Amino acid sequence: MSNNIVWHDHKVTRAERAEPKSQRPCLLWFTGLSGSGKSTIANALDVALYQRGYHTFLLDGDNVRHGLNRDLGFSDSDRVENIRRVGEVSKLFADAGLIVLSAFISPFASDRRLVRNLFPEGEFIEVFMNTPIETCEQRDPKGLYQKARAGKIKDFTGIDSPYEIPERPEVVLDTSLQSVDDCIEQLIQYLQDRKLILEHKD
Ligand code: ADP
Repeated sequence: MSNNIVWHDHKVTRAERAEPKSQRPCLLWFTGLSGSGKSTIANALDVALYQRGYHTFLLDGDNVRHGLNRDLGFSDSDRVENIRRVGEVSKLFADAGLIVLSAFISPFASDRRLVRNLFPEGEFIEVFMNTPIETCEQRDPKGLYQKARAGKIKDFTGIDSPYEIPERPEVVLDTSLQSVDDCIEQLIQYLQDRKLILEHKD
């Protein structure tokens, strides 16, 4: 027996993993119409947090739909499954102590609630991109609105598929009125106020 290694019955908790990083694990969930600025703002926040020495991970349609969820389309049931999987993966990254940024249209309130319920109180931050559809359509960064209007894409959120507006989002941004820098400042302030990011000890 004495030769055996005795394992302490201690699991490293998510809080313990996060503590040396001067942060609390959390998920910033960016939801809104295509072209509302989810990816742009999530990426810019990712860079801003990285530059300040925090540990983050970004999930978005591009890195998830090409891999983990490449078997899923855009039917209602596939959208539900898409978000369910993203929620579970986001939770795993948060369990690793990270600040997770997830950018998905996520049009259904019930799906967003499902993800919210995976997280302890205060660690799910719904960021509603409240950019008017007119602006999103004008930008049309991927030419998707044009295709949807022409009937070449079916079930396009905001055109022929609904977007359910968040009832109590933690943060609301409107990129038709706010610059990228303004949005980042608002988000960093939110994280500081809730002590989700702390001053580094060094
Ligand atoms: P989504 O991820 O919601 O589909 P994107 O971030 O891909 O949206 O696209 C938003 C587009 O709007 C980008 O082309 C971006 O450059 C442009 N844009 C213009 N002004 C802003 C702003 N203030 N904030 C975010 N994006 C902006």
